[in-house]
Amino acid sequence: MSKIDEKLEPVLDQVLRRNAGELEFHQAVTEVLESLGRVVAKYPSYLENALIERICEPERQIIFRVPWVDDQGQVHINRGFRVQFNSALGPYKGGLRFHPSVNVGIIKFLGFEQTFKNALTGLPIGGGKGGSDFDPRGRSDGEIMRFCQSYMTELHRHLGEYTDVPAGDIGVGGREIGYLFGQYKRLTNRYEAGVLTGKGLVYGGSRARTEATGYGAVYFVERMLATRQLTFENRRVVVSGSGNVAIYTAEKITEFGGKVVACSDSSGYVVDEAGIDLALLKEVKESRRERISEYARLKGDGARFSDTGSIWDVPCEIAMPSATQNELTGRDAKALIENGVIAVGEGANMPSTPEAVRFFREAGVLFAPGKAANAGGVATSALEMQQNASRDSWTFEQTEQRLADIMRRIHDTCASTADEFGTPGDYVLGANIAGFVRVAEAMRALGVI
Ligand code: GLU
Repeated sequence: MSKIDEKLEPVLDQVLRRNAGELEFHQAVTEVLESLGRVVAKYPSYLENALIERICEPERQIIFRVPWVDDQGQVHINRGFRVQFNSALGPYKGGLRFHPSVNVGIIKFLGFEQTFKNALTGLPIGGGKGGSDFDPRGRSDGEIMRFCQSYMTELHRHLGEYTDVPAGDIGVGGREIGYLFGQYKRLTNRYEAGVLTGKGLVYGGSRARTEATGYGAVYFVERMLATRQLTFENRRVVVSGSGNVAIYTAEKITEFGGKVVACSDSSGYVVDEAGIDLALLKEVKESRRERISEYARLKGDGARFSDTGSIWDVPCEIAMPSATQNELTGRDAKALIENGVIAVGEGANMPSTPEAVRFFREAGVLFAPGKAANAGGVATSALEMQQNASRDSWTFEQTEQRLADIMRRIHDTCASTADEFGTPGDYVLGANIAGFVRVAEAMRALGVI
């Protein structure tokens, strides 16, 4: 049963037809269009000039061959992508994902989400996303470098600090951004620091960028909890994933007095009732790049590793899904609700399935959608661009303060938008409408482009 307003049905039908088989993209567009029914009822002018159709169609999609040579001298071919979704508010901005599951539909869903997320930050950034089906797992440093150089050899002609500014996502961290920036600089003969974000501190990166997505998600949830006079203090929290987002989510929760009892990777999850040891987690994941089972092995008695079942069966009061899309299903949501979850904050992009989101909303669980809760990463990327443009470098405290302010503002915008449209406490609706309105107003001002 579709909850789409009948005036928006033809828009969705066209998206489904034109992007056949791209299920994640269908999912992301459907969710936003479901929220927009209330907007077009109140402001029918948004239906004019095919504005909503235009928002659903990327401005440009680039697909290219990425050949590279492994350590044994064998040639491999991967597929590279960059979807430049919307530049009404600023240069295309969004990360690169290197993972074998990447295809054009995944990049399109991420680019679509990114457009609204970036709008919610209030900063001058459009939306884009890119990546490759390259699998970095088990690859040497040299192989990663040659892959990044080959990828950038094609991509560089589409980038620029006023055109398109990539950053990291799954499989792309500080090391990869370094190789990508090195190759961009070499090809263009320009030290154009603002063309990539997530850079290392020695060559134009921003303090707090590494921590920003995780810290920001916790600031958002803190503010959301406060609407019910609740805090993180002494709460049991489960954070799925163990990449950059999960690690710094767990760090900030711990600082706020919460206890993170479980985290995971694609091989399984660990439960540590004493609270996840962050130094050990960083050692296993950031330094050694090992599987999560190593955490349990090194920790000894206190921790247990499981490679069966779901991390969401571990009882908790706050859940922060921070691994990947559709990792939290309707079944998982039911288990969390039965175990008394009070709040869910999405650190990853679209980690809850539509059914899971429905269950949370019906049960009155505080639910922060990824495009609002995880916007701290890209917001701090915009602060990095600002520092690059002014050839300045801010302190950690100054940058984190800006991040905290931005996250609280995003929270309040989502909350007041939900109030305005008659659904108080519905952050999904608030985020989708507030993000849409900002992009739509800019597009309207720019004419039919
Ligand atoms: N990949 C991150 C996101 O989903 C960061 C993007 C960026 O900093 O450009 O928001």
